[in-house]
Amino acid sequence: MNKKQLISVFRENDYRVTPQRLAICEWVLASEDHPTAEQVFEHVSKEHPALSMTTVYNTLEMLKKIGLLSELGFNMQPARFDPTTSVHINVICQQCGKIRDFKSESIKTQWEKIVSEILADSIGQRLDVYVICDDCKV
Ligand SMILES: [Zn+2]
Ligand SMILES: [Zn+2]
Repeated sequence: MNKKQLISVFRENDYRVTPQRLAICEWVLASEDHPTAEQVFEHVSKEHPALSMTTVYNTLEMLKKIGLLSELGFNMQPARFDPTTSVHINVICQQCGKIRDFKSESIKTQWEKIVSEILADSIGQRLDVYVICDDCKV
């Protein structure tokens, strides 16, 4: 999503557009490694030194409400933020905490079938697989 599209999404949802919010959104929505709020702050505050953790949390919350971001909560570990909101599997390394996305059409089809058999109106899902990644296996 480019800056222009983001601005119009903000406006459609009655959120004020600020340079800090935009920078947070641009970075987190382009991220592939499921960052923590702390990592979002560390990265974006390089360009925006006046940035506060509150702004980071509020902006992430806003993206969640709009449906552009999901929050993956963990026991004993900080939550991670995932801009891939369509059906996919998070492949999570138990050792270093690295998370990569695994997407496939067949998972999506199967998942939709399962959900329709449950007869529930699904409003979302979270699919995690735990592994020890190649870097940690050595
Ligand atoms: Zn690992
Ligand atoms: Zn993911």
